Amino acid sequence: MPLPTDADVLVIGGGPSGSTVSTLLAQRGHRVTVFERERFPRDHVGESLLPYCYGIFEELGVLEAMKERMVRKPGVRFIDVDGRHHTTWCFGHVIKDESHLSFHVRRDRFDDMLLRNAEAHGVEVHEETRVRSVDLDGPEGTVSVVVAGPDGEERTVTGSYVIDASGRDTFIAARMGWKKAHDELDRVATSAHWEGVEFNGGLDEGLLQIVYLGGEKKGWIWVIPIGADRVSIGVVVNNSYFKERRAELRASRSEDTTLDYYLAELRTSPFVDAVIRSGRMVQGPVVNGNYSYKSDTKYGPNFALVGDAHTFIDPIFASGIYLSMNSARLVAYALDEALTSGDGKPALDAAYEQIAGAYRTVEKAIRLFYNPTAINFAQAGSAGELIHERHKNAMASMHYLLAGDFFRRHEEYSRVIDLLADPKLFARYKTFVVDRPELATASTCGMDRAQVFSEMLLQEAAARG
Ligand SMILES: Cc1cc2nc3c(=O)[nH]c(=O)nc-3n(C[C@H](O)[C@H](O)[C@H](O)COP(=O)(O)OP(=O)(O)OC[C@H]3O[C@@H](n4cnc5c(N)ncnc54)[C@H](O)[C@@H]3O)c2cc1C
Repeated sequence: MPLPTDADVLVIGGGPSGSTVSTLLAQRGHRVTVFERERFPRDHVGESLLPYCYGIFEELGVLEAMKERMVRKPGVRFIDVDGRHHTTWCFGHVIKDESHLSFHVRRDRFDDMLLRNAEAHGVEVHEETRVRSVDLDGPEGTVSVVVAGPDGEERTVTGSYVIDASGRDTFIAARMGWKKAHDELDRVATSAHWEGVEFNGGLDEGLLQIVYLGGEKKGWIWVIPIGADRVSIGVVVNNSYFKERRAELRASRSEDTTLDYYLAELRTSPFVDAVIRSGRMVQGPVVNGNYSYKSDTKYGPNFALVGDAHTFIDPIFASGIYLSMNSARLVAYALDEALTSGDGKPALDAAYEQIAGAYRTVEKAIRLFYNPTAINFAQAGSAGELIHERHKNAMASMHYLLAGDFFRRHEEYSRVIDLLADPKLFARYKTFVVDRPELATASTCGMDRAQVFSEMLLQEAAARG
């Protein structure tokens, strides 16, 4: 397809944010063009989704395809590194309709499905087409981008709006000097896909597993079942710890410092060690840095930044895709109003106020996770009846928060997080609950294999033997 000369809306990047904003605008009759540097399907990190994505999938028209092709996720289990405590948070405790069952995805398939769906809704998609520069000061408030197509040919394309959905490349924010790092949340993730592993300890019932690493690592391990025979396993640690470990491995003549570091960290958790013992790595390990930042400016009269292109915060609560897709949805509604009425400012102001509240709440919950004197998500459930009786509302709120309900009731969640971060409460709770091993009971969301893995996924695994 030849490169266009103009469109109403130009979108940089065809990941979940770009596909969402462009599909919703095309559904409302606007001419939208997406420029995507890669050819899809392409791999990406970030594979576990929140129940609150459900409504967006319905609106995009992909919910049935999700049910057919992706793994179902009833909740998340947090585990201490020594395996002594673990807590299973089931979304079904607070969400009573079918959306309590979320999804885990292979990103090559998920992102490709969303981009093809955008095309099916009339979005013009140009893959292997990199945006090289952007000009926000065109005549009469227009914008233009210079793009390079698959054959290297460059073209200038103009529009009324440009949306930056370029992910952690932060195309516009990086060029404008708007990007600011959160130094204290500076982490590095190293991850790989595995097959032939032991589907034990809740993986067979679709749970996302998060192992606390604690101490100087300030990190965690994720284990995500992304197929009936495939898991994604990643280690997240403080950047300084990562650099020190790699330097030590180099000094001890390791031939592959990334691999040696990765495997050594996985083996610190008895749970993960048992999962991988019989498995083989089929993809990776890959390293992802560039963690935790936000852009000072997020929108203006003819541009908007969505998803990771404006803010990225530590993915501990698997919130990134929902934050990104829902902000893209809110921005699409606002731009529709702008393109239709000619004045988008009030709608964009309102959308970004809601978006800022959601990111603030998630960031606060992340700081709670890393706070050594606050209640720990792995130990909370060990409290059993005690915590549930005394802090029933707080625990219900945390379930909602883990499910993704942070765009609507930020103030309430903020108060709950303050309560859980109170060191006095933590000290009392530690004596009565954490230090009593008899309270560390196993818990489950009660799913069986056939509910978690679709027919298609089971057949695929069987074919691989
Ligand atoms: C280690 C790690 C673990 C994570 N785990 C989770 C998780 O479990 N659950 C979750 O919900 N989220 C997770 N996330 C976050 C999640 O991956 C992101 O929030 C999500 O991918 C954001 O989508 P996006 O569309 O904004 O950006 P992306 O998915 O990154 O898409 C951006 C697209 O823009 C394209 N692009 C970039 N520059 C240009 C250019 N100049 N021209 C044209 N195209 C360009 C890229 O090729 C890319 O396809 C994780 C992130 C990390 C780093």
